[in-house]
Amino acid sequence: MPQINVLPDLLVNKIAAGEVIERPASVIKELAENSLDAGAKRIEVAVEQGGAKLIRIVDDGAGMDAEDLARCILPHATSKLRTEDDLFAIRTMGFRGEALASVGAVAQLRIVSRQAASDAAHEIRVAGDRIEPVTLAAGPPGTTVEVRELFFNVPARQKFLRTAQTEMGHVTEQVARIALAHTAIEFRLTHNGREVYHLRPASDMRARIADLYGADLANALLAFERDERGLKITGYAGLPADARSSAKWQYIFLNGRYIRDRFVSHAVREAYRGLMEPSRYPVFFVRMEVDPAGVDVNVHPTKSEVRWRDSNVVYSQVLSSLRDRFLSADLTPAYRPGPAAFASGSGGGGTTDGEPDTELEAQRRQRIRESMADFFKRQAPGSASPAPGAGPSWPTSGARPDRPPGAGQFTMPADPGLWPPPGGYTQPASPPVDPEWADVHGVERTLPAYRNTIQVHDAFLVAETDDGLTIIDQHALHERVLYEQFSRQIARGPLESQRLLLSETVDVTPDEVALLDTHGELFGQLGFELSAYGPSTIAVHATPSLLKPDRVGEFLRDAFGRLADREAPASAELLLDALISMMACKAAVKAGDPLSSQEIEALMAKRDLVERSSNCPHGRPTSLNLSLAELEKQFKRT
Ligand code: ADP
Ligand code: MG
Repeated sequence: MPQINVLPDLLVNKIAAGEVIERPASVIKELAENSLDAGAKRIEVAVEQGGAKLIRIVDDGAGMDAEDLARCILPHATSKLRTEDDLFAIRTMGFRGEALASVGAVAQLRIVSRQAASDAAHEIRVAGDRIEPVTLAAGPPGTTVEVRELFFNVPARQKFLRTAQTEMGHVTEQVARIALAHTAIEFRLTHNGREVYHLRPASDMRARIADLYGADLANALLAFERDERGLKITGYAGLPADARSSAKWQYIFLNGRYIRDRFVSHAVREAYRGLMEPSRYPVFFVRMEVDPAGVDVNVHPTKSEVRWRDSNVVYSQVLSSLRDRFLSADLTPAYRPGPAAFASGSGGGGTTDGEPDTELEAQRRQRIRESMADFFKRQAPGSASPAPGAGPSWPTSGARPDRPPGAGQFTMPADPGLWPPPGGYTQPASPPVDPEWADVHGVERTLPAYRNTIQVHDAFLVAETDDGLTIIDQHALHERVLYEQFSRQIARGPLESQRLLLSETVDVTPDEVALLDTHGELFGQLGFELSAYGPSTIAVHATPSLLKPDRVGEFLRDAFGRLADREAPASAELLLDALISMMACKAAVKAGDPLSSQEIEALMAKRDLVERSSNCPHGRPTSLNLSLAELEKQFKRT
């Protein structure tokens, strides 16, 4: 007796439906994609009870004649593939011909369609294995697809449906994804008769983002693009300060489809590394276009994952387009007392302030600018600080300041309180100019010029800028400066080291002592010379010059703790990076350390030199901008 059965069509379709139709949102994805393929300019989605009861999609696309209507609901029925070669040049959203057959197998399906040239519409109904003949119907050009009682004949699936509210959440997200990928199309979404979205055709993705999520979010995004090596990228990246606690706000689109892609995600993570805490996720929208031959979209039932022909190109192009954009942006967060104030031009450090609209407005700004300059002149600590005019001359607007004396060199100019103390170790007579600093200077950046810096509460620095003022966390900034300094230096050789006259000992745990064998070299790069001294003691013979002696023990204990942590990522590069940022933290001035005016100047001079100075290595912001516009608003002058 034969053991092998050929499955009946309905069962085959139900199985196929299990792959593509998971919940109402997946029905909407398939139907909306069909509408897009049919050239629709307007797509209306109506949903009842989260989609479990009814999903109706109305489009103004090309429509189908009676013959096609009878066919479209059959398995493997598609107008989008004719030959095998077509499979490698897919420009349509669908091509497998299984969506309508799958939906018809698990719901009550009704399709009404009319081609523009025809004056009659036709209708077909399907429910499980019952297919009714095509009949004449009334309706406008385009196609209407109605899906009722989803999973009525698949109780196991029906049980997996969540509350109407949860399902509606998925539906809304699905419509947003499609709408972001197709900004020129008008979308409408209603739930139980109430409008959720009405998205009019948008000129670009930023406009659509604004429609979906509000102008505040959209305006603060940095636009970036690149068209190289067969990959066209246009995207919008959020400021580090606007990062979220989940990856939900990361949207990747390829050739008009929402996808998940680990190469793009990794590139984004890498681009933001050091700009935000590792547990945060930047807001991010990117659209990519490649020749269909460069990617296989046929590896996932819902086509939400792809296989790249060359994933390295994808990774490197996304990473470099973001990095380039960040280099030319001021990532300092703007002061935002509440959501309302954000709407003023001061939002989003990367965007320019709104131009004053009237002459009066311009004069008012000028007055405030002057009185603020005045205020800071009076408040500046002592007269030792080089006042404008006396010291280096700052440009009055727009451009970066000229380099203050000593800037562009590796070691800070005489800054007694900042480590190292003068004479603490010998400085080279004329420190070499690091060519990499020059690189950073080659790129025109929009960090504000700063003047008249004062220290408040021994913790913050306040400086006047061209269009307002900046408040800086002294520890976070110094930490960032040192981190950059260490990273750059270490790329060329070990950090400068200082031998101790008498070796010191540090107590650690026995398994941490064992780490010396595996990681001795790593410490060598940082400027340490260490040896095992006992079962739980390490001897320190030399330390990095920039690390104060009283911080050495603390740093080593933390460092060994990090090395012993098996959970944490452990490539040599990541470990070194982790240790460098720990060392920068320990070597930096702390909140509560009073700074002399020379120390303040020295630190501020570095600020402009350091890439990503707007965040400390842990990703916390180092500074906050408060614009004139914001001040005016707060003082109710506008
Ligand atoms: P696929 O999209 O993979 O071709 P579907 O089962 O989703 O498979 O659709 C089958 C066919 O039905 C499509 O190829 C198309 O010719 C036709 N069709 C489906 N929806 C529409 C629509 N909204 N407007 C016009 N034609 C449609
Ligand atoms: Mg389809």
